[in-house]
Formats: sequence, structure tokens, C-alpha cells
Amino acid sequence: MSEKIILTCPHCGNKTPLELLNRFEKVTKVPLQFSEKAHFHDIFEVFECPVCKGFQLFHTHWNTEEAYREGFDIYEEGSVLFPTSEKVNLYSLPKNIKGAYESALKVKNIDNAVCVMALRRTFEMVCKDKGAVNGQLHQKLNQLQQQGILPPLKGDISKVIKDFGNMAAHGDQVNFDKYMVESMFRFTNKILEYIYILPREMKRARQELEDLAEEAESQANATN
Ligand SMILES: [Zn+2]
Repeated sequence: MSEKIILTCPHCGNKTPLELLNRFEKVTKVPLQFSEKAHFHDIFEVFECPVCKGFQLFHTHWNTEEAYREGFDIYEEGSVLFPTSEKVNLYSLPKNIKGAYESALKVKNIDNAVCVMALRRTFEMVCKDKGAVNGQLHQKLNQLQQQGILPPLKGDISKVIKDFGNMAAHGDQVNFDKYMVESMFRFTNKILEYIYILPREMKRARQELEDLAEEAESQANATN
């Protein structure tokens, strides 16, 4: 079996054709009316990275009940089940932010200071994307906080971001170890999720509720 899929390696950050080592597909059939059945496909694939030889377990899903747009890439909506590193869903991010974040991923485990600077750049991109363009990073982040784009947390989120970026940039006598980098990734991921992913998930949940309500209403009408 030699199948290759282009994915980002969670170990070394390379986006490259990964070797498919193994694949398992679970199909669940759910009866519908008129003896029809809905099919739900859960696919589990193990890929190996040709660069670092690290492997990942990837989950994708499709079903017969959803309408997929043309050119839909099943891997865009998929997720890495292993390794369970904190990672944001890249496909939900605007292109330039995704690019900056990917640069950070690329040097993760290779150069920690460069990695932290790349994360700081990711925040610069977020500010630009959200229309905060004047002043230092700290001021721009404050602006986003005032506008409610960043969460109104105590402890000054913008200062935390500014400080960790500055420490990396100035090469202070700070040694960034991999645990520190991992913790900064977790922090960055939460912020990116809050700004870019939560609104999307909310929209989806709201749509599902509306669909349910509509269905209930039409059923009620049908029985009247
Ligand atoms: Zn790799």
C-alpha cells in the first residue's frame, strides 16, 4: 500500500506528502424513512512523515446526510488524534495568520526563540486582520480587548503576549525550553480559537437548533 496525502506533520511542521501506513473505516448505518439508510463514515488513518519519521493518527468523517461543496477536501475538517499536542485547527484561520502560525510550528522543537517570535508575529497578523494597525503590539492588543475581540480577562492578556514576544526578540538571558514553548502554544491556540473558531462553532450550533425547531414545527403542522 503506497498512498500519500499532503498534510502538516505535527512533529516537525513540514507540509508534505505523508505515507499512509494503515487505514480503518467504520460505517454506521442509521435507518431513515422509506427503508432508506443514512451512512456515516469515520475514517482513521496512520501517516508517517518522510522528513522526521514521526507518525500521526488522523480522523476524517463524511456522511450521506450532508451536502459537501464542490472540491471539498475531507482532510480540511479532519483532526489529529495522535500526537495529542495542543494545536489549533489551521483550516479555520485566515490565510496570512495560518501562514505565520505555520512558521512557528515549523521551528517548534528546533529553535525555541525563533518559534516564540513567530508566535508573536501571528498576533501581529491577528491585529492587522481585525483592523488594529496603529501603535505597538501592546496598544493594538489593548484596542482589540476594548472592542471585545479579545476576551475581557483579568491579568492583562495583551501584556502577556507582548512580554513573551519581547523576551524572545531581545535574546535576554532567557532560555526557552520546550515546556515553555508548549505553554505559549497552548495560550496562542486558545486566543486563536476564541477569535476565529468559536464564532464559527456558535453559528453551526445555532443553525442546528434552528433546523431542529423548523423540523418540529413542520411535524406539528403535519399532524394538525
Ligand atoms: Zn515530520
